[in-house]
Amino acid sequence: MKRHGSLLSTILAAVLSSSQAVAGTCLTADIMKPAGQRVSSPYGVDRTGRPGASAGYHQGMDIVNSEGAGTPIYSGSAGSVRYRHFGGGGVIADVVSGDTRFFYLHMNTTTLKDGQSGQLAAGDQVGTMGCKGMDSCAPHLHLGALLKGSTLSTTGTNGRVWREGSRKSTSPLTGDAIKEALPQAWYFVNPEPFLPRQIPISNKYPDMAGGPRDTTLPKTCAPGANEGAASETVSRSDTQSQQKAIASAAEKASGSEDHAVKVANQPNRSLYIELARMNATELTANTFDYDAQIDAALAQLVALYALDARPVEGRP
Ligand SMILES: [Zn+2]
Repeated sequence: MKRHGSLLSTILAAVLSSSQAVAGTCLTADIMKPAGQRVSSPYGVDRTGRPGASAGYHQGMDIVNSEGAGTPIYSGSAGSVRYRHFGGGGVIADVVSGDTRFFYLHMNTTTLKDGQSGQLAAGDQVGTMGCKGMDSCAPHLHLGALLKGSTLSTTGTNGRVWREGSRKSTSPLTGDAIKEALPQAWYFVNPEPFLPRQIPISNKYPDMAGGPRDTTLPKTCAPGANEGAASETVSRSDTQSQQKAIASAAEKASGSEDHAVKVANQPNRSLYIELARMNATELTANTFDYDAQIDAALAQLVALYALDARPVEGRP
């Protein structure tokens, strides 16, 4: 029995030391009702040129649920909250929980007013989902996660990281810069491993951390050591030139079967189909800037129709 007891204490000590190694504070409560919850725009991706999205890197992640606008937003962690204006985000809840900090953006209503602060328990409501700070949008919560430099520098992450206050056009920090993070400064990191549960991603990007995925990263409460963004299989400029090619293909009279067959035989056929699929997904996921997206999707669907339907029709 004694041996058993000492084994137990050894295991306990190991568990304790491994939990001490965890950098950062997790979200322990759901931040919104889970029904229909999904990521409509992932963290860290370069959204320049994306219809309906602001240019530059996304220093947070967008989350929606089936209730949408007005659904209560809860703090996922205990901590101190300050409500303050944030460019492009309206009045946000800025929650500090130890070495981790969470931003809740675009809320239509907030529990306290701009400039007020207080203490929160995990699960306390901070506001309601909305569109504040944006000209037009599909209501969503933009969740930002930040780590204190002293903690960040020990994580070994190679993920996309920005110092608080960096412009959206700023390139992510290099691995070496992450190791030299200023101890008292705050840095944006991927919120995914801090979420209380893994949630589906409805809008995949080629350059998202760990590559295009259907689900958020596992809960580790720290940025992963191998969280580097996937190499962009389709670079932005490539995508843009392909989109131009598709648009011009769509403008051409597609009555000519020769033309359709020619287009269908192009080496980038699968890429065209993927682009049309991505645009259709984006259209259903983000309804903001609806007109521009309709136009883009329509052009691509017309092109897709020419690619897909025409060649197999044969002569009547
Ligand atoms: Zn966002």
